[in-house]
Amino acid sequence: MSNRKQATGACVYCGKEMTRGGLARHLRTCAQRQQAIVAANAQRGEDQTLYHLQVQDAWGSDYWLHLEMRGNATLKDLDFYLREIWLECCGHLSAFEIGQVRYTQLFNDGMSYGREKSMNARVHRLFRTGMEIPYEYDFGTTSKLVIKVVDQREGKPTTKNPIVLMARNIFIPPPCAECGQPATQVCTECIWESPPMAVFCEEHAEEHVHDDMLLPIVNSPRVGMCGYSGPAEPPY
Ligand SMILES: [Zn+2]
Ligand SMILES: [Zn+2]
Ligand SMILES: [Zn+2]
Ligand SMILES: [Zn+2]
Repeated sequence: MSNRKQATGACVYCGKEMTRGGLARHLRTCAQRQQAIVAANAQRGEDQTLYHLQVQDAWGSDYWLHLEMRGNATLKDLDFYLREIWLECCGHLSAFEIGQVRYTQLFNDGMSYGREKSMNARVHRLFRTGMEIPYEYDFGTTSKLVIKVVDQREGKPTTKNPIVLMARNIFIPPPCAECGQPATQVCTECIWESPPMAVFCEEHAEEHVHDDMLLPIVNSPRVGMCGYSGPAEPPY
């Protein structure tokens, strides 16, 4: 579901609204973020590498996240976060592709086969600024994301959590196919024919012929796929 205008989002530190690319630059220099970093670095504890990640839908530019992730957190932490905020419907498998290796769920006592490895890998061993990491959730009705390592810093995390949401796209619902009001439901039958004709407001969703095929529209690139019903909220 693509909107005509480029999606903007707000910096969580200072509230400024910008495009995805504008925020990638802004977050490096945001005075309020710098203050939060200085305060965190004044705390006791060991320094580590922290990564600025830009996560986006591989197919379009409407959905994106700017995250800061601790280097001593694992790919499993990132997988959990992405499932919570965007993806989880029925516990499908997922994978990160880094170099020649697929980091995925292993069910055999953590034994790895060929080019598959466990997600229990700390990201400071894997991530470098400039990397673009493909990620897939559900190998059937697949959601494909790209994780860009935009920047890294040495220091201390600004929160207790492994990942911090620094910005995400502000969601603009698509217009109802019948009346043009903001749509709240998508028909998982009609979406294969034409996504713009498959989205409805509450009133027109009730009148739609496939009233048992409707799913809610939320701020996620997985809307309308498999049984995804949101809520598309961060876990912490
Ligand atoms: Zn800011
Ligand atoms: Zn599913
Ligand atoms: Zn309507
Ligand atoms: Zn339909």
